[in-house]
Amino acid sequence: MLYKDYTKEIIGFKDVKVTFGEIEGNNLHIHIEMQRRIHKCPRCAHETNKIHDYRIQKIKDIPSFGNYTYIHLRKRRYICPNCKKKFYEEVPFLPRYQRMTSRLIAFIIKSFRKVSSVKELAGSANVSPTTAVRIFDHIKYSNMSLPKVLSMDEFRGNAGGEKFQCIVTDPENKKVLDILPNRKSEDLYRYFSKYKDRHNVKYVVIDMSGPYRSLARTIFPKAQIIADKYHVVRQVAWAFENVRKAEQKKFHEQRRKYFKRSRKLLLKRPDKLTPDEAIQVENMLKISERLRQAYVLKNEFYKVMDSKNSFEAKKNLARWNMLFNGYNLPEFYDCFKAFTNWQKEILNSFDVPYTNGFTEGINNKIKVIKRNAYGIRNFERFRNRILHVMA
Ligand SMILES: [Zn+2]
Repeated sequence: MLYKDYTKEIIGFKDVKVTFGEIEGNNLHIHIEMQRRIHKCPRCAHETNKIHDYRIQKIKDIPSFGNYTYIHLRKRRYICPNCKKKFYEEVPFLPRYQRMTSRLIAFIIKSFRKVSSVKELAGSANVSPTTAVRIFDHIKYSNMSLPKVLSMDEFRGNAGGEKFQCIVTDPENKKVLDILPNRKSEDLYRYFSKYKDRHNVKYVVIDMSGPYRSLARTIFPKAQIIADKYHVVRQVAWAFENVRKAEQKKFHEQRRKYFKRSRKLLLKRPDKLTPDEAIQVENMLKISERLRQAYVLKNEFYKVMDSKNSFEAKKNLARWNMLFNGYNLPEFYDCFKAFTNWQKEILNSFDVPYTNGFTEGINNKIKVIKRNAYGIRNFERFRNRILHVMA
């Protein structure tokens, strides 16, 4: 009887009488019964409070203070004096046919929001992973409307037999709108065609992917297409890295040692270098003319990215193109080609603050979810989990 008041507080259910409570190892057992009251016979509607017999039902509840909680409900069976029908009393906190309380179910669903493994969260809820997943499978997410700014990106989810999935977000309001099973143009087209409010979309942010651009032009003909800034900068960083690696290989063992920290130093913006680092960079550039040119191209491109608007960016980009043409750096050719091909979308990005930065952050979170996933190969569950965590 020690825990009577305490357990009553834990239980918190209405019309419940706690008869006994005890802790046994890590388990808290609470014995309860419902208040006796008049019930209506489900068959003839006659009123009765005549008890026929009892049955003990063991129910799991949310863990409390580090203990797993078991409720032992002494369930009453009433009998109707009129038609002799026997029936169990009503227990409002217990969903039908469940061996757990409604709030334990709510607790499990809530814990799926955390980026922890299913095994772990099931353990802390005192259920098996299979049960936890079965409960979670009742959650369904759907998206009904499209935002003003829409971002499309892909990530390697390896779910539902497809390597890549597509993520649709609202970067302005930082919301994940949907996860699509693949990145095939015809499927994306079919998906977006269903929306009646496509005219809401004024900006579409994408990386420099041709299929996405064609799709955006078809599906959102009035929207401005914005090339994601991060992606644009990344292209240049990659090109620079290719030059650096190629040049480094040419050096003898001794000099290569000298280049040990080169990657970090050379990728740093020049104005962020300490005087000592600046000298090191200068020495590296002296060794290779190609590296020096690549360094200039990279840094000049940062300046393009710092442009205050599309007008300024256009001038700076033209300057950068001229610079590129004067050098002999085939590693940068793909950048040059992409910047020409995507000039309009890149310039658009200088007049609005929208990028895929939010989506990129989500992609990192998805990686963690995948690592801890249980049955993630099921696409629907994978999608629901991501939307649940991000909701
Ligand atoms: Zn009856």
